[in-house]
Parts: sequence; C-alpha cells; structure tokens
Amino acid sequence: MSAPSARAVPRAEVVVDLDAIAANTAVLRERVGRPLMAVVKADGYGHGLLPAARAVLAGGADFLGVAVLEEALALRAGGITAPLLAWLHGPGTDYAAALDADVEVSVNADWALAEVLGAVRATGHTARVHLKADTGLSRAGATPAEWPALVGAAARAQAAGEIDVVGLWSHMIYADAPTHPSITAQVGVFEEAVALARRAGLTDARLHLANSAATVALPNTWYDFVRPGIALYGLDPLGGDPAEHGLRPAMTVQATVALAKRVPAGSGVSYGHTYVTDRETTLALVPVGYADGVPRAGGNRAPVLAAGAQRTIAGRVCMDQFVLDVGDDAVEAGDEVVLWGPGDRGEPTAQQWADAVDTIHYELVTRVGGRFARRYVGSAGAV
Ligand SMILES: *Cc1c(COP(=O)(O)O)cnc(C)c1O
Repeated sequence: MSAPSARAVPRAEVVVDLDAIAANTAVLRERVGRPLMAVVKADGYGHGLLPAARAVLAGGADFLGVAVLEEALALRAGGITAPLLAWLHGPGTDYAAALDADVEVSVNADWALAEVLGAVRATGHTARVHLKADTGLSRAGATPAEWPALVGAAARAQAAGEIDVVGLWSHMIYADAPTHPSITAQVGVFEEAVALARRAGLTDARLHLANSAATVALPNTWYDFVRPGIALYGLDPLGGDPAEHGLRPAMTVQATVALAKRVPAGSGVSYGHTYVTDRETTLALVPVGYADGVPRAGGNRAPVLAAGAQRTIAGRVCMDQFVLDVGDDAVEAGDEVVLWGPGDRGEPTAQQWADAVDTIHYELVTRVGGRFARRYVGSAGAV
C-alpha cells in the first residue's frame, strides 16, 4: 500500500443538513394545514438542540416541545423565544425557573399542579399549563380515574387566575401501525377526557395528540396542532422510505479510514475472531466504535459504504474502531466511509442500520455522538 496523502480530513463526523430539517418541517406543516409543535428533545434527536430549534423555526414551526425542563431552559439561554412546552417533570422540579423563562409545563397529577401553584405564588407569573391524559400508553398522564380530580383542581386554579390551561393532550401508543385498533380506542378515551375538561370550564385549551406517525398517517388525530419529532429530521416514522412523505434525512454519519492493509486468507478479524477472511483481501480500519454510539450489535451485521459499495462490518465493533473487508477494491487510509445518511450517494440509511441491529432509527440518531465532531451544512436558521 502506498502512504496516504496527508490531507486534513476529519476522523469522524456527524453532518447535519439544516435545510433538510427546515424543509421537512415545512412539508409536514403544509400537509396538516394547522400549527406544528416541533419536538427538539434529546439534543434535537442527536442533531443539536439549538441548531435544530432554529432550523424548525425557519421551516415554519409554531411551537417547540421538549421532554425535560433543562432542555427548555437551554433553548431560552440560547436565545429561542418561541412558545415552548416541557412535559416530563418529577417532584421538586424548579417550576419557578420554568415560569421565569416563559416555559409552558405539562401536568399529570394533582401533586404536580400543587407544585406549579407554589411557583406561581413565588414568582407572580401565571403558569401556562397543558394537562396530560393517559389514554392507554400507561406512561405519563392522568388515568381516566384520576382525570376528573385533576381537571377540577386545574379549573379552580384557572378561575383564581393562577394558571391558564392552554392544552389538553395525550400521546399515541401505536400510530406507526396506522390501522391498529388501539388508535380508535385511544381517540375515544381522549375525546371523553376533553369533553369532561370542557364541561369543567377548560374551554380555551388547545388539543394535541399526533406524533410523527400520526402526523403522516392519521388525520383524525391532528386536532389543534401536531407534535412531530423524528419526521422533522427526515426519518420515516412508519419505517419506510421517507421520500414517500416528502422528507429527507438530515443526518450523515461518516468517518475516514485510519489504516488499510492486505491480509492473507484465514485472517481472524477483531475481538473473538468472529470474522475470518476467506481469501487474500484488503481490510480497512474505521476509527469509531461503540463509545461513539456505533452499536456493538452492528458487528457482522450492519452496512457501511466504503470503496464504492456497501460492506457489512467485519467482526466485532470495538469501543473505538471497527474493520471492513473491501476485497480487492481500492481503499487507503484517509478515504471516506459512510455509516448512514440520506442514501443518495449509495450509503446505507439509518433505517437500514436499524433493521440490521434490531432497533429503531430513533435510537441510532439520538445515541450517535461520543467523539464524532458535528458539522452543519445549509443555512436554515443560521445565526
Ligand atoms: C418524543 C415525543 C413526541 C415526538 O415523537 P415522534 O415519534 O418522534 O414524532 C411527541 N410527543 C411526546 C410526548 C414525545 O415524548
């Protein structure tokens, strides 16, 4: 092998296409014809909290949604002024900080409402509250048994001028299977919860239920606004081809070959020798591993574009590196390999990776990180 040229190429990078995020947002908003709350939790699904937030707003998002208060406060600290909901809070949450930062909060239980009211009295701010109903997911939200008491307490606090109940909401169980019977059942439970809240006087609250899958597939769940996450980043919540929904994946994960070498037939590759070369061949060492969020389960299973074709990772994925067998194709240190991306350069997609390692693309994009550098392309929301 000849010595590689000493080019300045990044060892490993996650490239995020901000224009794709903005365009995906616009496509979804256009599709539903009503406001859109863009979910940017979990560091913008691994795309970067602030850049993702700016890109979705550039694409026409009306509100932002995050899971935890720290994420909301980070958005405010980064200069984001859009209406913002944070929904996952345990006891002892600093609701005063939320109110000071004009963050709307979700409430699941009467003890949580009491904590919010404590912060209202401490800060003098009226809280903007979304009441969450558990319509069958058995995750966050008040159960149908708890709902009447929660609604009653919230209606009293609203009448006292302490809170504005601005949202009544829930979360889909199985919208990625758009014909599943749970959907009709859930919509029914939600509408009963809404009717009860309306009768209690919470007449101004807006209704929201639809995640990405429901946003692309279930118009009867759109209500006053939709609340997609993964689709904004261009991944198909139904597990198919995002282009069919007009979406384009925003993330490309790539690295440069650290070492290439010829080895004889019968060479065992990586820990445990779970891969053995069946002929003389060229191996390429890729300097990213499970510490960087490349799933260890990808060993001997996951595809990577290298030297013009997709190759299955040879042997185990290690903490910092893995190996590809490229046969007699030309590869040298410094060459680019692509783990996943939009797919139009022949690289695998995050969906392909998810299928290979038996997970969902959500997990892949939110976990890739570690020592990958992040680089932004496109101008949507640029500051
Ligand atoms: C994460 C999340 C969403 C967005 O879900 P996607 O499937 O990514 O669209 C919406 N609502 C809640 C409550 C969530 O936790």
